[in-house]
Amino acid sequence: MKKIKIKSVLFAGKERDILIADGKILKISKKIKEKSDCEIEGKNLAALPVFFNMHTHLAMTLFRGVGDDSPLKKWLTTKIWPKELLLTPKKIRKGTEIGLKELKKSGCPFFCDMYWWPQETAKLVIKHKMGGVLGVPFVDKVPLIFSKKFALKNFFELKKVVKNYPLIKIAIAPHAIYTVSKNNLVWAKDFAKKNNLYYHIHLAETKEEIKFSKEKYGLTPVKFLDKLKILDEKTILAHCVHLEEEDIEILAKRKSLLVYCPASNMKLGVCDVFPFRKLKEKGALIALGTDGVASNNNLDMLEEMKIGALLQKHHFCRTEEIKAKEIFESATKTPASFLEIKNEIKEGDLANLILVDLTLEEFFGGKDIVSHLVYAANYHCIRYLIFNGEIIYQRN
Ligand SMILES: [Zn+2]
Repeated sequence: MKKIKIKSVLFAGKERDILIADGKILKISKKIKEKSDCEIEGKNLAALPVFFNMHTHLAMTLFRGVGDDSPLKKWLTTKIWPKELLLTPKKIRKGTEIGLKELKKSGCPFFCDMYWWPQETAKLVIKHKMGGVLGVPFVDKVPLIFSKKFALKNFFELKKVVKNYPLIKIAIAPHAIYTVSKNNLVWAKDFAKKNNLYYHIHLAETKEEIKFSKEKYGLTPVKFLDKLKILDEKTILAHCVHLEEEDIEILAKRKSLLVYCPASNMKLGVCDVFPFRKLKEKGALIALGTDGVASNNNLDMLEEMKIGALLQKHHFCRTEEIKAKEIFESATKTPASFLEIKNEIKEGDLANLILVDLTLEEFFGGKDIVSHLVYAANYHCIRYLIFNGEIIYQRN
C-alpha cells in the first residue's frame, strides 16, 4: 500500500499536512517532513469524511427513468417487476459497475445495498476497492422467483466471495412486511443472528403499507416488527415515513439505523415526511440514502443532503427544523459509527476522506464548508476520494 502525503490541506479550519500509510492516518501536523510515495498538493482543498449511502438497489441504474411519473403501485407492478424478472447476473454486473462509478463521483465509497445476485455486486465492490453492507434480498409473495431458497443460494456464494475482504458486511434483506410473510420475517432474523448478519428491510414507506399492517396484524409496521423482536442494533430500516408517536419511541430505544430517503419519497409521492427532528430528539440513529436509481434518479449524496434538509424545513414550516451539520452527520458519521467504521479523520484511524475543491464558485462567500457542501455545491467539487488508505477516485 502506498504512503500518501496530502500537503497544506484545509482540515478543521487549519492548514495541515496529512500522512497516510498502511490504510491509516499516521499523522496530522502543520508540516510533515517524512517522504511518501505519492504527494497531493492540498492547497485550496479541504479534507472531510466520506459519505455512506445507506439504502440503495445499485444495479437499478439499468432502470433509470423507467416508468417515471407513474403511480407507485403501477410503477412497481407494471414497469419494474416485469423487467426484474428478466434480470441475469450479467445484467447485474453491468448495472452495478455504473452504480459504483456514480457513487465514487459523489464521494461515497460505502453503501448499503439490497439487490438480486449480491455476490456479483461483491466482486465489483472488491475490484473498485470500495465497501458496503450487501443485502441478500428475498420475497415470498411477488415475484416468486426471488424466493428464500434463491436467497440462501446467493448467501452462501456471497460469503465465499467476501471471505477475505472485511470491507464488505452482509445483511439478510427481506423486502418488506407486505411481500414477506410473518414466518419468513422471523426466519430471517434468526438466520441473521446465527450468521452475525445485519437485517435490512423497507419499513413504513407508504400509506398502503400502514393499512395492510393494521388490517392484517392489528399493529403499525414498527410495532409489528418490534413484537417479532426484529428491531435491534443490527437492523437497518429504509424510509420510516409514516410513524406514530409510539413508533418513534420504539425506534429510538432499539437503536436500529433509520435511513431517510427524501428524493425517493418525494418522487414516489408517499404522502408524509420522515420525522427527523422528533426521531433525533429521542436519540434515534439517522442515516441518509438515495434508494435505487429507478426512484431517485441518481446516487448523488450531495444532492440528497440538500433535498433532505429542504424537505424538512418546508414540510415542518421551520427553518431551524434541521441544520446543515445534522444532515451531513447523517450522511457521514452516524452510519459509520453504527457499522463500527472510523470516519472522522483522526490520527490512528482508517484513512477515509474526501478532498473538495475550494476554488469553485460554490465555495465563495461564507466560511462554513459543510453549509456549502449541503446547500451550494454538487459532486463536481470532489477531487479525491480516499478509502481505506487508497485513492479510489480522482477528478483532475
Ligand atoms: Zn428501496
